[in-house]
Amino acid sequence: MAVAAFETPKLKEYPVIPLVKVDATAHLKPFVASEPLQKALGYPGQLVEDWQSKAIEKMGELLGKYRSLRVYMDTCVHCGACSDKCHYFLGTADPKNMPVARQDLLRQVYRRYFTFAGKYFPWLVGAKDLTKEVLDDWYSYYYQCSECRRCSVFCPYGIDTAEVTMAAREIMDSVGVGMKYSNEIIGKVHRIGNNLGIPEPALEDTLLGLEEDTKEETGQDVKFPLNVKGAEVLLITPSADFFSEPHVESLIGYAKVFHAAGISWTLSSYASEAANFGLFLGSYEQMRQISLRVKQAAQELGVRRIVVGECGHAWRVAYNHWNTFLGPFDWLDERYPVPQHICEVTYGLIQDGRLKFDKEKNDDRIITFHDSCNVARASRMGDMPGGQFRIPREIIKAVANNFHDMAPETICDSTFCCGGGGGLLTDDLIELRVKGAMPRMQALKQVRDEHGVNFMAMICAICKAQFTKVFPQYGFQMDMVGGVHQLVSKAIRLGDQ
Ligand code: SF4
Ligand code: SF4
Repeated sequence: MAVAAFETPKLKEYPVIPLVKVDATAHLKPFVASEPLQKALGYPGQLVEDWQSKAIEKMGELLGKYRSLRVYMDTCVHCGACSDKCHYFLGTADPKNMPVARQDLLRQVYRRYFTFAGKYFPWLVGAKDLTKEVLDDWYSYYYQCSECRRCSVFCPYGIDTAEVTMAAREIMDSVGVGMKYSNEIIGKVHRIGNNLGIPEPALEDTLLGLEEDTKEETGQDVKFPLNVKGAEVLLITPSADFFSEPHVESLIGYAKVFHAAGISWTLSSYASEAANFGLFLGSYEQMRQISLRVKQAAQELGVRRIVVGECGHAWRVAYNHWNTFLGPFDWLDERYPVPQHICEVTYGLIQDGRLKFDKEKNDDRIITFHDSCNVARASRMGDMPGGQFRIPREIIKAVANNFHDMAPETICDSTFCCGGGGGLLTDDLIELRVKGAMPRMQALKQVRDEHGVNFMAMICAICKAQFTKVFPQYGFQMDMVGGVHQLVSKAIRLGDQ
């Protein structure tokens, strides 16, 4: 299916809340998962005959299991504080991309089947039957939410649209309507161990190639070990780090950090993926199954620490859910947090004076930092409040001389999603991705115009892939995108250098 042409939003002098355009993105829907893809994950292959009753039953099950979901369904007072906070609304102007309207797509069905007033006086409380038209709207607009939680920061009741989106997606999967992109990727993780479907021999080859390249660059024997039993650290990193640009530059950075600090480490071919798309399905069971690969690999290799590479949603799953899925961790070294982020490792080593840098090697870059939404709003880092904001910035300042933050209302817990998170990093949604990136592009333009910023650092594989694709649409160069450890890699001193 060809993707229709669309116009890239114009960047303005200052941010503007758009006038609404009804149904502006009603045509945007991800490709539907095929029968084999659905069945591989244990879902019906296509829309089941009695889908309405099954969907309502599933909604009832989720409302019973997750108290928060029922609270979110009941508490919204339609104050509108969230309405202009979603990057997809700001970029598309479609009113159904206002977080409150997105929630209402589920809420109106909830009211119809799970509240007294909705059962008997539906017209009084905005309750709606679950019709095929409503299901189609769900499929469109719950796949126009990246589960980034920006709206929840501004909601006086803390209503989390991401959880509503997750529930809607889980209900749709349960009646046979899943999206191709995420479901196909999860199938690959179960079969092969990573999102890209890289088999062990190819991974081994790639890592050997990186060793040769790094030796050529530095003269040092920096290793990229695979399946090494007894290593201290198991590194779980997004598979994009093995092949994609600029991701691989950060992998080289992690290897140099471990090398310089004398920490033995390994990757695993069985758990060769940090990403966990179970989060994007809204399925805690899929999240758990994918996470279990990490525990199995760590125990088989006998490591003492687990460190997670630059991947936003992977860190969200690890930080929030590994304890429940994989704990207790009494078989790991108690002196280290579980999980530990690669930025925590590097920051700790910098503080201990165990890493040395030639900062001027990054002098060609004027750098800003994009807080990835899953790290910023759905997790923490280190043992200080706001560590997830401070630690990456401290690392950048330790390895480079030129740093400027973007406008305060667009960073830290108010950061804008890249536009490709939440399982939306697929070309069938490119229009949404380009338009959803607009608020971040607007903030970047401001620091480029004011300070000459020419590099945006980040710690998320999805952000890197999304920005390299959408930067040219807004007149930025693709090589302005890179990882924090890419900067570390450039400046770190190895051996006697
Ligand atoms: S979670 Fe993010 S993408 Fe979803 S409605 Fe809220 S702001 Fe928009
Ligand atoms: S800010 Fe919260 S209470 Fe207000 S409309 Fe949005 S979700 Fe509802």
